[in-house]
Amino acid sequence: MSFHVVKSAHFRLLIDADAMQANVKTITHVLEVTHDDFFTAFPTDRFDHQALAGPAMWVCFQAPKRFDRYARLADRRDMSHLRGYYSARTNRVALLLDDQPVATTAHSSRTTGSQRDDQPVTLEPRRIDRRISHEAAHQLAFNSRLYRRGVMYPLWAGEGLATNFERITTGPLGPMYDNPDRHARLVQVVRGGRLMRLHRFASMVRLPENHDAVVDCYAQAWGLFRFLYLHYPKQLSAYLAAAANTEPGWRATGELRSAFIDAFGPIGPLDAAFTRWADNLADSD
Ligand SMILES: [Zn+2]
Repeated sequence: MSFHVVKSAHFRLLIDADAMQANVKTITHVLEVTHDDFFTAFPTDRFDHQALAGPAMWVCFQAPKRFDRYARLADRRDMSHLRGYYSARTNRVALLLDDQPVATTAHSSRTTGSQRDDQPVTLEPRRIDRRISHEAAHQLAFNSRLYRRGVMYPLWAGEGLATNFERITTGPLGPMYDNPDRHARLVQVVRGGRLMRLHRFASMVRLPENHDAVVDCYAQAWGLFRFLYLHYPKQLSAYLAAAANTEPGWRATGELRSAFIDAFGPIGPLDAAFTRWADNLADSD
C-alpha cells in the first residue's frame, strides 16, 4: 500500500493513495479541534495526564476493500462492519472516508468562492466528523495517559468518554456540553424503561449482540460519563488515575465493581442519583 503523509500540529495522517485529497484539511481541522477541546475538558490541575509525546497516527482509506485489508494485516481482525476504529494494539486510528462525497457537497459552498485555502474557517459538521472526533477521543485518552493502553475499561469509561466528544454541532466538544443525538436516545431509553441499573452497568464491558441494545448502551455510557464529570469530578479523576495505574490485562467483574466503589462510594445512592438525573433529562425534553 502507498500513502500520502499529511501532518498537522498533533496528528500525522497516512492517506491511501487512492483516497481523495480534497477533504484532508477538514479532517485535520476536526482532529485539532478535538485535541484542543479534549485538553480543555481535562485540565492537568484536575486530571492526571500529560501532553502528547508525539504525533497521533491515522491511516485513512477511500475503498472499503483496502480498509478491510489493512485491518486484517495490522490488527488481524475483521473490521468490515466498522468504518473507523482506534486500535490499542497499533495505537493508530484506521478510518474509512466512505461518506466523504456526501460531506463534500454539504460544505462545498463554504469553502469555494473568495475563501483561500489557508484561511481558517468554521466548518459545518459532516456525517463523518462524529466518527473522526469519537475515535480521536479514544486515541487522545491513551496517548495523554489519562487512560492506559491494555487496561480493561468498562463501557461507560471507554465509550462514555468518546461519545462525549462526538462532533455533531459546531459547538465545543466535551462532557460539559450536550450531545443532542445521544441525549435523545437516552431519553428514549428512560421512557422505555430500559435504563440499566449501575449495579450492572458500572462494570459492564461487553456490548450486547442486538444493534438497538448497543445504541442504548452507548447512550447510557454517554449519560453516565457526563453525569459523573459534572457532579462527581474529583471522584471521576480519582477513578481514572487508579485505572491508569492498574496492570494491563483482563479484569473480573468484581474487580471492576470494586474499583468503581473505591472511587464513587456505594453503588446504591449513586444509582439513585443517576436515575434521577436521567429522569430529569426525559422530563425536561
Ligand atoms: Zn468508541
